[in-house]
Amino acid sequence: MKFDYDVLIVGGGPAGLQSAQMLGRAGRTALVCDDGRPRNRPAAHMHYFPTRDGLPPEEFRRLFRSDLAHYPSLHLRDVSVTDLVPKEEGFEGVLADGSRVSARKIILADGVQDILPPIPGLSELFGKTVFHCPYCHGYEFKGKTLGIVGNGEMAFAMTGILRGLSQDLILFTQGASAFSSEQAEALARRGVPIIEETIASFLGEEDGVLIRLDNGREIFRHGILLRPPQKPKSDLGLRLGCRINEQGFYEVDTEAQSSVANVFIAGDGMDPRQSVLTSAYTGMMAAISANHRLAREDMLRD
Ligand SMILES: Cc1cc2nc3c(=O)[nH]c(=O)nc-3n(C[C@H](O)[C@H](O)[C@H](O)COP(=O)(O)OP(=O)(O)OC[C@H]3O[C@@H](n4cnc5c(N)ncnc54)[C@H](O)[C@@H]3O)c2cc1C
Repeated sequence: MKFDYDVLIVGGGPAGLQSAQMLGRAGRTALVCDDGRPRNRPAAHMHYFPTRDGLPPEEFRRLFRSDLAHYPSLHLRDVSVTDLVPKEEGFEGVLADGSRVSARKIILADGVQDILPPIPGLSELFGKTVFHCPYCHGYEFKGKTLGIVGNGEMAFAMTGILRGLSQDLILFTQGASAFSSEQAEALARRGVPIIEETIASFLGEEDGVLIRLDNGREIFRHGILLRPPQKPKSDLGLRLGCRINEQGFYEVDTEAQSSVANVFIAGDGMDPRQSVLTSAYTGMMAAISANHRLAREDMLRD
């Protein structure tokens, strides 16, 4: 049977682009489809990718795409994949422009979407003065006043991590605090105030955030750490029947294959470490696995 591509890659973030590069260098044909919703789009700069510290994420993707132009067997289209239909052999990808492409394997690198709590003002500040990861964007607030929106184990752990950058921390627990007595004592000993009153709104200021509480009190912080829950950015994997584990990530075997044969997963959707670097790494691993399968099938075919 003749296919349009060896591999259809859904998503052109660091995971999908790295998968493509690996496949191009293996002499495979691949199509990357991307609909322009990268997770780090709100951030002005990205960190901890070797040799690219501080680069705007958009520039990173532009450079990565230009690298792929060296490999003529790779195609890139700015279009959404709206459906993936398993066929007797391979898959058919349905694209938002109405076209259809056939491929032997799928790499799902569609990433995740952060689900922000519905606090007025938050979405405008997320990725700027409200950040989700102490490693990605905490350093820019070194020595400044910080808030942490969270409770229990996660907030306690984040407090410890952010104390490496600032001693002026306030915890906003959004309701009754849920710390063990040992944790509560440790927070009190280090002078970390706990505010249980819920947040009514965030207001962006020139150099930080004004937090207005439900009781009308206002508190200024230069930066706020808030870790939202996430969900897969598209429902393509779920519709195909790919299983999700207890942590909410796609279940994969040691070769990055999902619970559905010939569907491989790369990037934030399968890896709790979630970074540009780890996404590129898992993209590479998914592509190697897909290519091993393709090579074996080709060798055994008549
Ligand atoms: C605000 C913010 C700042 C961050 N800063 C950093 C940082 O400084 N350093 C760092 O290492 N990490 C950072 N991260 C994390 C980093 O952005 C992610 O770990 C990384 O982008 C994940 O790569 P990915 O390829 O899995 O997904 P993404 O980069 O999200 O790419 C997925 C792509 O798939 C596309 N897509 C989804 N569904 C479809 C579909 N059906 N059809 C076609 N295309 C589709 C999307 O449009 C998107 O372009 C940050 C995250 C956030 C939220």
